[in-house]
Amino acid sequence: MSPIRLAIVGLGKIARDQHIPAIARTEGIALAAIASRNAALEGVAHFATLDELLASGEAIDAVALCTPPQVRRAQAQAALEAGKHVLLEKPPGATVSELGPLIAAAQAAGRTLFATWHSRFAPAVEPVRALLAGRTLRSVTIEWKEDVRVWHPGQEWIFEPGGLGVFDPAINALSILTRILPRPVFVTSARLAFPANRDAPIAAELDLADAQGLPIRAELDFLQTGPQTWDIRVDTDEGLLTLSSGGAKLFHEGATLVDEKEAEYAGIYRHFVDLIRRGASDVDLAPLALVADAFLLGRRTQVESFEY
Ligand code: NAP
Repeated sequence: MSPIRLAIVGLGKIARDQHIPAIARTEGIALAAIASRNAALEGVAHFATLDELLASGEAIDAVALCTPPQVRRAQAQAALEAGKHVLLEKPPGATVSELGPLIAAAQAAGRTLFATWHSRFAPAVEPVRALLAGRTLRSVTIEWKEDVRVWHPGQEWIFEPGGLGVFDPAINALSILTRILPRPVFVTSARLAFPANRDAPIAAELDLADAQGLPIRAELDFLQTGPQTWDIRVDTDEGLLTLSSGGAKLFHEGATLVDEKEAEYAGIYRHFVDLIRRGASDVDLAPLALVADAFLLGRRTQVESFEY
């Protein structure tokens, strides 16, 4: 079977750090083109925009949209209308409601739409999900604290409307949470801290629950210096399970159950190839809906201005 010919749209941090190496390591898919306003890759066909790429007639089967969420809906719609399979970086969009028409467009075109949640491909996520299925859960604590200056240097879009601010990384925690817990969860209250000069929060505290009243608390911070924290702790009737390093490690009380180098994007591309071959799509909006609900319910405070 000939490989799926993929174009990357938006040659920024995540495209370079993760997508390009993962595509090179994945059987059944090959990088065939780049659409980037600012950069090119030697030996790969280059177009300034997705529209130019689609108009060129270049032979591609699929696109990976590695652009900010605010511009992705229009790109996804154009690609699906042109008969291409579409991979969306997380979050899948700037709003929840824009995804419905994209799902319908993928169905109408008979193409794959894959809304990726890279943290769900972290090595300890499926093991902890299996463990939690058989236990009584008492509480969940999320601590997602990183330094925006280190991980998103100069990315102005992240603090613009639709950029999600601290929820850009924290939605990864919510993507894990909604995968590992046995029942759906919902937001019960939220406190959001907005810098005086920005349109998205730089820190937040959330309370969530499930229908049985499981208390879930999340502390999110984008100004964490020193050690960075991407942890989810689940207190159960059989002890404390700690998912650490964004899902790469799992501890039960003191014992290490999983400690693997993360290979999230290899898993993403294997799944994308499989979805395309099966003629299926994979779009789960639960993490984005929780973020939207935090914005709906959240009490807002103003904190000092933020500059990179
Ligand atoms: P980035 O470094 O800012 O790259 C985004 C790229 O999108 C830019 O380099 C630019 O590419 C293109 N772009 C920016 N504004 C655009 C616009 N208005 N219209 C069209 N294209 C535009 O951001 P990133 O960190 O790679 O993040 C991109 C997405 O990946 C985000 O949704 C983010 O949440 C997700 N993600 C990021 C990370 C991470 O660690 N950084 C991890 C996982 C997921 P060109 O200059 O090539 O046109």
